[in-house]
Amino acid sequence: MSDPHPPHSIPAQPQMALTTPLALVPGVPPNLAEAMAMMGVTNVGRFLAHLPLRHEIQEAESAIGEIVAGRIVSARGEVTATKVWPRGPKPRLEAVLHDGTGRLEVLWFNMMYLREKIKPGVRLRVQGKATKRGSGVQLVNPRHEVLHPGNEDPPPRDSRVRPVYPASELIRAWQVEKLAALVLPMAWPLLEDHLTPEYRAARSLPSLGEAYRMMHAPESTDEVLMGRRRLAYDELLLLQLGVHMKRWHLRRSLRAPDLRWNEAVDKEIKGRFPFALTASQETVVREIAADLSKPTPTNRLVQGDVGSGKTVVALYAMLMAVMSKHQAALMAPTEILAEQHFQSVKRMLSGGGVRVELLTGGMEPATRARIIAGLGSGSVDIVIGTHALLTEDVRFQSLAVCVIDEQHRFGVHQRAGLRAKGGGGGGETGITPHVVVMTATPIPRTLAITLFGDLDISVIDGMPPGRKPVRTRVIDAAERHTVYQEVRKRLDAGEQAFVVVPAIGEEDDERMGVEPTADGELVSARSLVRELEAGAFAGKRVAAMHSRLRKATRDSIMERFRAGLIDALVATTVIEVGVDIPGATVMVVEHAERFGLAQLHQLRGRVGRGERPSVCYLIADAPAIAATPTTPGAGTNEVAVARLAVMEKTNDGFVLAEKDMELRGPGELFGTRQSGLPPFKVADLMRDRELLAMARRDAAEWIERSPILAAPEEALVRRRLLKSFGESLGLGDVG
Ligand code: ADP
Ligand code: MG
Repeated sequence: MSDPHPPHSIPAQPQMALTTPLALVPGVPPNLAEAMAMMGVTNVGRFLAHLPLRHEIQEAESAIGEIVAGRIVSARGEVTATKVWPRGPKPRLEAVLHDGTGRLEVLWFNMMYLREKIKPGVRLRVQGKATKRGSGVQLVNPRHEVLHPGNEDPPPRDSRVRPVYPASELIRAWQVEKLAALVLPMAWPLLEDHLTPEYRAARSLPSLGEAYRMMHAPESTDEVLMGRRRLAYDELLLLQLGVHMKRWHLRRSLRAPDLRWNEAVDKEIKGRFPFALTASQETVVREIAADLSKPTPTNRLVQGDVGSGKTVVALYAMLMAVMSKHQAALMAPTEILAEQHFQSVKRMLSGGGVRVELLTGGMEPATRARIIAGLGSGSVDIVIGTHALLTEDVRFQSLAVCVIDEQHRFGVHQRAGLRAKGGGGGGETGITPHVVVMTATPIPRTLAITLFGDLDISVIDGMPPGRKPVRTRVIDAAERHTVYQEVRKRLDAGEQAFVVVPAIGEEDDERMGVEPTADGELVSARSLVRELEAGAFAGKRVAAMHSRLRKATRDSIMERFRAGLIDALVATTVIEVGVDIPGATVMVVEHAERFGLAQLHQLRGRVGRGERPSVCYLIADAPAIAATPTTPGAGTNEVAVARLAVMEKTNDGFVLAEKDMELRGPGELFGTRQSGLPPFKVADLMRDRELLAMARRDAAEWIERSPILAAPEEALVRRRLLKSFGESLGLGDVG
C-alpha cells in the first residue's frame, strides 16, 4: 500500500468544518478513520456526538517506591512475573510490577480472563487502593490499563479526568481518546449555539461548544456534570418544543364541537349515576367538562389507580356529547373489557332513551352492519368497542367525544386514528372529536409529560368509599403450599381466587411466542389447574384461562366466574386489565419476580372490590430470594426481590410505577420505542426530572411567544428540532 500522505500532496491546512470527513483531518491515520466510520463516526460533527461512555479520574502517578499503604494510588511499571493460584475453582491472578524504584504486587480475584492480557513484559498502569502486604504494598482488583507504545504518555503529575469512549473491534478506547484529543479541539469553536448567551446565563448552561468540550476534555468532574446537563437539557427542550408546537398547531387548525355544560346538564348527568362522585372524580369531571365546552379539541389524559372509578368519569364526558345531540365512543383494549364497559354503561343508562351499542371484531356481519348504519345516521348515541371502531367503514354522524380506556394498549397512532373520525363522513368537515384517554397503569408523571406532552393531565387520586387496601405478602416458592392452604380456607368460606401464572401450557408456548425459559419449569396454567384440583383445591371448581382459548370460551369462563360458578381461576395475564369480579378476594401470582411492579399492581387491583378484606400473595422463586450479590447473574434477582418488597409496602400505583421505572428503566414500562419517539442519548428521565420540568416550562413559554419558531434567529433551533423529532411527532405540516 502506498503512503496515503505523500508530502507533496498535503494541501494547505484545509478549512475545517463539522462536515469534514475524519479521514481528511490532518494527522488522523486512515485505518482509524475507517474504524471510526464503521461506528457511524464519519465526520468531525459526528465525532462530537460520539460521547464518552463514562469518565475516570486518573490519579497523579507515583513512583512505586513512594507508594504508601492506605491511599488511592496510580503507578506504572513492567510486569516481571505472574502467577495463577491456588488450584481450584476460584484461583486468583497475581502480578509483580517493577518500575526501577520498587516492586508492587497486584492481585485480581474473579478475573481470570486477564491472564491472557497480563503477562511478563507487558507495561501496565494500575490504579487502586494500596494496602500493606508483608513489608511491601499491594493493590487488589485495581483498575488497569495496558500501555502500548502508542498510548504511553508521560505520567501525569496532577490527577485528571479521562473520557472513556465506546470502542470496537477495530479501534480501542484509548485510540479513540487520542483521536478525540487531536480532532475535537478544532471542532468546538465551530459549533453554532441555538440558545443565546442570555438564555443560557439565565439557566446556568454552558454554550454548546463548551458543553462538548466538557464532555470530551473535562478539567474536572464538575465540568462533566455541567456539560452533560446542557446536552440533556437540549434533548429535552427540543422534544418539548416539538410537542408544544404540535399542540399549538392542533389547537389552531382543528375545531371540535363546544358542548353544552351548565348546572342543569351537570345535574341530569349525575342523576344517572348510582352513587355520588368522590371529590377527586368531581375535580376531574370539572376539568374535562371545561375542556369539552370549548371549540378546541380536548386532549386529556386521565390517570387513576386501579379501582379509582374512571368509568363513571368517562361516562360523564360521553353523556355531555349526547346531551348536545352528538355521539360518543369508548374504546377498550380487549373485547372482555369492552363488553364489561358496555354492560355497566347500559345498566346505568337503562330506561333513559340513550342508545348504547357494542361494536367488536368478532361480531356477526349483520349486527355489525346495523350498528354501523346507526352510527352513520346518528341513531346510536354511544358506541363501546375495541379497535374495531377504527376500521374504515365505521363512520359517525357527529362524533364529539372519544374515550380511550387503558391508553398503554394503544399507540399514539391509534389516538390519531379515532380523532380523524370526526363527523360528517370521517372528518372531512373539519370537526375533530374531543379525546379523553383513561389509563389505569399509572404512568409516572415524568414520563407522561414527555411522551404525551400534547395531553393535559388529570389525576383521580382518591378511591371510592368502602374500598379496602389489599394486603400483600411475598412468599418464597418453597412455601407455596402454605399459600394454597390459606386460599383453600377462603374458598371454603365462599370467596373466590385468581391464580396468575406467567406463561401458558408448555405445548403452546412456541406458538404464542412466549419466550422459552431457561429452567423450563414454569408453572403452566393447565398443569397448575391439575395440581390444585388434585391437591389443595380438591373438590373446588377450578378453571384455566389463557389467551389461546377462543373468545367465546373465555367470555363464558369469565361470566361463570363472575356469577360465582367457578371458585378459582388460574389464568395468564389476560385478566390483567379492568375485569371486575366483586367476589374475588385472593390474588396469587406465581413467579411474581417475572412481572413488572405496575403489572403486579394491576393484578392486585383485580381483588379488593367487594366488602371482604382481600389479600395478594406474590410467590417468588427461591433462588431469586436467596441470591446474593456474589452469585453470577444476581443483579437481576436482587432487583426482583427489591421490587417485590416494595409491593408489600405500598398500594399506591404511582409510587410503584416510579419505582419500576427507577429499577427497570422506562423502556420496560412504556418504551420510547413503543411511543414512536427516538430514545435520548444523554437525558435520563429518572435522573433528569428537574431538567425535564425546566425544559417543559421553557418550551411552553417559547412556543407561546413564537408558535412555529419562524424568526430568523430561531432557524437553527427549528432545524435541529425537526431533525431530531420532526418525523416522530408528525410535525411535517406545521408552518
Ligand atoms: P377503574 O378506575 O379501575 O376503571 P371503575 O370505574 O371500574 O374503576 O370503578 C371501580 C368500582 O368502583 C366500580 O365498581 C364502580 O362502580 C365503583 N365506583 C366508582 N366511583 C364510585 C363512587 N364515587 N362511589 C362508589 N363507588 C364507585
Ligand atoms: Mg377501568
